[in-house]
Amino acid sequence: MSESRLPTLEGAVCPVPLSHKDLIVLGHGSGGKLSHDLITSMFLPAFDNPALRAGDDAGLVQPNACTQLAISTDSHVVWPLFFPGGDIGRLAVCGTVNDVSMLGANPLYLSAGFILEEGLEVDVLKKIISSMQAAASEAGIQIVAGDTKVVQKGKADGLFINTTGVGLIQPGLEIGGALARPGDVVILSGSIGDHGIAVLAARGELGFETDVHSDVAPLNHLVASILEVSDGVHVLRDPTRGGLATSLNEIAHQSGVCITIDEDSIPVKPAVLAVCEMLGFDPLYVANEGKLIAIVAQEDAETILSTMRKQPYGEGATIIGDVKESPQGRVLMKTRIGTTRIVDMLAGEMLPRIC
Ligand code: MG
Repeated sequence: MSESRLPTLEGAVCPVPLSHKDLIVLGHGSGGKLSHDLITSMFLPAFDNPALRAGDDAGLVQPNACTQLAISTDSHVVWPLFFPGGDIGRLAVCGTVNDVSMLGANPLYLSAGFILEEGLEVDVLKKIISSMQAAASEAGIQIVAGDTKVVQKGKADGLFINTTGVGLIQPGLEIGGALARPGDVVILSGSIGDHGIAVLAARGELGFETDVHSDVAPLNHLVASILEVSDGVHVLRDPTRGGLATSLNEIAHQSGVCITIDEDSIPVKPAVLAVCEMLGFDPLYVANEGKLIAIVAQEDAETILSTMRKQPYGEGATIIGDVKESPQGRVLMKTRIGTTRIVDMLAGEMLPRIC
């Protein structure tokens, strides 16, 4: 497939093709603009198929007329391995459960691949495995296949975990990043930036104390609860790496719509805001691991909102904006001082190895 015929993936409108002289940089793993360039110029042309081309959190496949599956995979390289509110094990389970859930699928099974560094303490591994099992039980899924490799000391940072998940999509259910429509309402399930700031704090790089905890959590029960009360859910996405801003940009491009948000309505905890202000971060770009964006039909928005608020991981749900026809592919934000600004996707890398 030629470059010009390539479909856009996750909102990468103008992918910058990598030349043979380029080298991979940390930003290629940011989940932002560079990641999208890498995917659209390297992986998508090589592996091209409809599931991948859709550019959603999981690939949708239909092995027979009555079965629709969502499949997603994610590698976890977070450092440090333990942080307030979670650890690499909980993250590895929740990250994949959530990506499968974002197509409206009911996640059922996970595989887990471990890359262990020679010298890793068995006690550390034990703690991480037990955290993974606790997260799997909470999500109601089973880890049914696995793999272990060990590399020499210095060739990995303690351990890396890859998880792959499979979930079933109810017949007739259609949820995807390309399905936002003008008039839809944008709901966010709670405060942003908690995960990124908690991991940063755990690195001891802040120079001051903060009590921010990661929001890492399985969101499949929250998704199931809203699908039970509404058939007007059009898009679901968990704003992980690249943050809320990047996810909204992906959706705006995929759907060919404009998403407008109101800065005042976006929940950010005071402690997260304080760290962001001190370090010059914009919370819109900081990673979350237990939040979702739901873009829904206007007539169902209040029902969905009140349903979400009854769920433990949706208590802080709020309406943050709506969908307009144009300018297509844009995210606009009404700021606190009453101006409107363009919110772009993350450029470069802000916090490497955040998940
Ligand atoms: Mg995702």
